[in-house]
Amino acid sequence: MAGLPHFYYHPRMLAYDFGPQHPLKPVRLERTIACTKALYPWLQCIEPGYASEEDVLLVHDEDYVEFVLELTEHGTAVPEELFGRGFSTHDTPPFPGIYQAALAYSAGSARAAKDVCEGAMLAINAGGGLHHAQRYRASGFCVFNDPAMACAILKEKFNRVMYVDIDLHHGDGVQAIFLDDPDVITFSIHETGRVLYPGTGFIQERGAGMSVINVPLEPGTTGDLWLQAFTEVFRRAVDVLKPEAFVLQMGCDPHRTDPLGHLECDVQSWLGAVKEVRDVGLPIVAMTGGGYDIANVPRMWSAAFLTLGRLEVPARMPDSIPVEWGCREIFDPPLGPGQSHGHESVETIIDYWSEVLR
Ligand SMILES: [Zn+2]
Repeated sequence: MAGLPHFYYHPRMLAYDFGPQHPLKPVRLERTIACTKALYPWLQCIEPGYASEEDVLLVHDEDYVEFVLELTEHGTAVPEELFGRGFSTHDTPPFPGIYQAALAYSAGSARAAKDVCEGAMLAINAGGGLHHAQRYRASGFCVFNDPAMACAILKEKFNRVMYVDIDLHHGDGVQAIFLDDPDVITFSIHETGRVLYPGTGFIQERGAGMSVINVPLEPGTTGDLWLQAFTEVFRRAVDVLKPEAFVLQMGCDPHRTDPLGHLECDVQSWLGAVKEVRDVGLPIVAMTGGGYDIANVPRMWSAAFLTLGRLEVPARMPDSIPVEWGCREIFDPPLGPGQSHGHESVETIIDYWSEVLR
């Protein structure tokens, strides 16, 4: 069955905005929706409302949730003593209305998870993917951890859930929240924490049972090898650990033009991972995530939505999409001979996981 019947988006998600100097710009999402509608005019965006306190408390401490509410009420004049209590002032600065904006941005993931519990095979939050938020604090642009909420909700119906994170950065918040739970497997492929935020996600990290799988890659790794590492470790993990449903975080910042990292992914390799997850044939809750090159994000996310919905992704955006957005061509030119980079470290990681996942 092709299509996107459970697709959550509402313009109020655009209020999740840390200001004009911050890389997480609401226009990324706004243009993504425009591109998705241009490619698939039948798209019906369902309004997700706000995540409920009950959803949020599945994965966050009550003290922290109250603290975010307190911050929101201070407006722009956040007292000095509140800084640092659960918020870093530089990467995740509090702003007026942050509590409601964070609930709006996360809501689609909770709703999507409930749809999947009721039998949907695919449900998508156009926003969300705030994988760095910890149980007790905000971190890395993330206030409330919506992928973790989705995992917790799916666990009410499924025995074993696999969280799959293809963002540039390690999905540290989700990993930490479920570290002691053998039935939520967190699988993250990312640029190594040796050089990049959040500084975690190494192959030796372990949770309960075999519930933590990390694929950290060296800076400069090209898309072909990124996809090879993803595919080989992911297939093995699914075979051995037998999940019943997926939560898929689709950060598109591994792309080579992204200003925050040093991976060299192309659009088609990154989409290859989305296809891999889709083709296992299990129910999927998907959300977006990181991605900071405004010319790039709309084409990658709209292509990912279509891919998940088994809809054809054309080579170009329709002419209705302004040329100035810089995303008319959906795919990247293929790598030339000798341009592939990262063989040695990718081989080491694949060998490591073939030994461990048996
Ligand atoms: Zn990221």
